Amino acid sequence: MRSFMVMIMEITKHTFKGTKTGPHLLVFGAIHGNEICGTLAIQKVMEDLRQNQLTLKAGQVTFVPCCNPLSYANNVRFTDEDLNRIIKKHPQAKSYESQAANCLTRYIDDCDILLDLHSMGSPCEPCIFIDHPHPTLTAIAKAINPPDILLEWEKVYPDSEHCQSTETYAHSQGKMGLTVECGQHTDPQATHFAYNAIIQTMRTLEMLQGAPQPSNAPQNFYRFTHLFFRQEGAEFAQKWRNLQFVEKGTLIGHDDQQQYTAPSDCFITMPVHQGKVGKEWFYLTEKVTETDAAFPQS
Ligand SMILES: [Zn+2]
Repeated sequence: MRSFMVMIMEITKHTFKGTKTGPHLLVFGAIHGNEICGTLAIQKVMEDLRQNQLTLKAGQVTFVPCCNPLSYANNVRFTDEDLNRIIKKHPQAKSYESQAANCLTRYIDDCDILLDLHSMGSPCEPCIFIDHPHPTLTAIAKAINPPDILLEWEKVYPDSEHCQSTETYAHSQGKMGLTVECGQHTDPQATHFAYNAIIQTMRTLEMLQGAPQPSNAPQNFYRFTHLFFRQEGAEFAQKWRNLQFVEKGTLIGHDDQQQYTAPSDCFITMPVHQGKVGKEWFYLTEKVTETDAAFPQS
């Protein structure tokens, strides 16, 4: 890893305040540098607030349009390491992303609720991650209205060192957080989805004039149950799609050591068809009810 002359990084943020008291919402874009929909959506919301197209009536909102500026400039996911796995305080911040994390954790310390906007590399439906379920987060997720809501991602990691996400850090500080995957990186629809996600979040929190617009479209709730890391020789038995149903006993894939079969009726989740040994290969999830989405499983 490279060393940097300047060890204190300040990432640009913009704060807007309403006239009445209310929650402090923090909105992150481009935690991963090539995921630009959040940045574009935040810029549009800020412009609409400045031009009084939107009126902030209560609370305050802090926007960080670009959380990973160097990676954004180079249109890459990260520069030294995946920022959304190392969100914590780093006493000795050597990598670019650990310096960014030191700044972003300060912003999270000051907020009540975090909305983190992402996109994916392949064509996909939008979805929302809620690692620590709460009725307020479910209400926001229903207003944003993606087809799929995924619960308790970080619980399937063998140790917390591998999964220090923005949500993990927010929860550790007593804050609420949700992560929105808005669609494919380059799809203009992803930016529209991200814009609407910000508006619906602010309306659900009664910060903006106008009521949230919950849709009657059905939503699927899934809970993570397993995570498998890629080993030497890893190969899928077929080209699995995200959230594809697999029956108990179905062969999912194999590597040099063993075969992987579905331990129960479940859903293949976020299969990585080309990746590095030691990194996430695929997850399994099970369908749960909306009630499970409002309250954590004890
Ligand atoms: Zn991302």
